Amino acid sequence: MPNPEDGLRRFEAALGAISKMTGEGQDRGLDEARCPKCGGSTFVAAADLYSEAMLRLEEPSAAKEGPLAPGFTDAQIIAKFKPPRRNSAIGRTLLFAVPLAAAAYYVFRRYGSMLGQLTAMAATVLTIVVLMTTLRRNSDDYYDRRQRWRKLFVCRDCGQIISA
Ligand SMILES: [Zn+2]
Repeated sequence: MPNPEDGLRRFEAALGAISKMTGEGQDRGLDEARCPKCGGSTFVAAADLYSEAMLRLEEPSAAKEGPLAPGFTDAQIIAKFKPPRRNSAIGRTLLFAVPLAAAAYYVFRRYGSMLGQLTAMAATVLTIVVLMTTLRRNSDDYYDRRQRWRKLFVCRDCGQIISA
């Protein structure tokens, strides 16, 4: 029996791949920026701090040095600079789809296949609308959070967090 949740996950993954291709620029420089706290001018991207901390966590033997930002442990970096995740649309969609399917089934049993099929079609259309709007909303939200995350930098001299 095909699992509809599998299909949804694949669909979401495909959408995610598309937005990854179009969403990522390379504009992560901080030209001429100064740290508001210490006046330092070297910064490290929170995204880089995070991936380095993850590397050290996964492979402690490869760890040469500690975090590049003063005042942070790897655990703090990982908790603080975790990349945002896309929320799944599956839960909300099923919340609509399950009672709609039940209603269609009820109509089918109670009033016959003609009305049952009409109800099932209406339920399908409603479910698709809910799925598409939820995917769209989650996608916008994810994009915003990711943009903000990619603009986070940490001062190399004092550990001050700034947003580019
Ligand atoms: Zn500083």
